[in-house]
Amino acid sequence: MSAPRSKPIASLSVDLDNQWSYMKTHGDPGWEVFPSYLDIVVPRILKFLEDLDLKITFFIVGQDAALEKNREALASIAQAGHEIGNHSFHHNPWLHLYSEQEFEAEIARAEAAIEGATGQRPVGFRGPGYSLSDTTLRVLSRRGYLYDASTLPTFIGPLARAYYFRTAKLSAEQRVQRKALFGKFSDGFRPNRPFQIVFEGEPGAGSITEIPVTTMPVLRIPFHLSYLLYLASVSPRLAVSYFKIALALCRLAGVQPSLLLHPLDFLGSEDAEGLSFFPGMAVSSEEKTGIVSHAVGSLRSHFQIVELRQQALELQQAALSTVAQLEFGSG
Ligand SMILES: [Zn+2]
Repeated sequence: MSAPRSKPIASLSVDLDNQWSYMKTHGDPGWEVFPSYLDIVVPRILKFLEDLDLKITFFIVGQDAALEKNREALASIAQAGHEIGNHSFHHNPWLHLYSEQEFEAEIARAEAAIEGATGQRPVGFRGPGYSLSDTTLRVLSRRGYLYDASTLPTFIGPLARAYYFRTAKLSAEQRVQRKALFGKFSDGFRPNRPFQIVFEGEPGAGSITEIPVTTMPVLRIPFHLSYLLYLASVSPRLAVSYFKIALALCRLAGVQPSLLLHPLDFLGSEDAEGLSFFPGMAVSSEEKTGIVSHAVGSLRSHFQIVELRQQALELQQAALSTVAQLEFGSG
């Protein structure tokens, strides 16, 4: 057992979405050659984390790991001591429509590519666009994953989707595939704190920990960095107060926040041509880094920031000790 902590834990991750995956989801031509900004953004994010002495989780897309041009950037993340998670192979935000065999093949292919590029075999998964299903969770559990981190318990998913597709040129079929991007209204009723999913009666399936991307307790609106940066483009002071309120509510509600970062939180319009449709892209990378530093700094003043693997392990230990207490009646 580790020593008692003075602060509750929070986890932090990066979804390493690449330029092509945004273009693909948005229906923009040219994504098929997999344009990449990883060589620019990865060193920036690693420097940011090194300055804060933080080790966090990077969810990597298998397709990127499979390409020689991204190898150096991806290997440097593992070399810096961060956890590597699986963010699917093709980055299709409609994994909930996959059959069991299709999903298994997708995951296995991503695992092989990611391990090849980083030397780490992932034990955590996050579905693109917060897509998940009973099938995805069962397959992950069977493949020995410790945790899944694919839920965003918010009511505003449909709003975010409408915003994203305002400028998209997609066929009717492509719109159906992307129907659940950012989730459904009812997702707002999903748990906001991590929980354990047990697959009963399935030999070898066991259980898996679900770690939702935390939304503001009670109101269930997102407060991860991309949302803050969007608010900051309206009013930086508003963004700071919004984040403070969200953290205060987490502490009151006893929620261990799990927050995420995206490459676009570190890239300005000067770095990523063709992504101007994305909210907050009018803010320069320098301004963005300032806001991200401020937010991560205030998260750290109240919580100990860890990678998701550690958060999952501690939750599982806590769950086991609760079961033991119940069995022995010593609670
Ligand atoms: Zn993604």
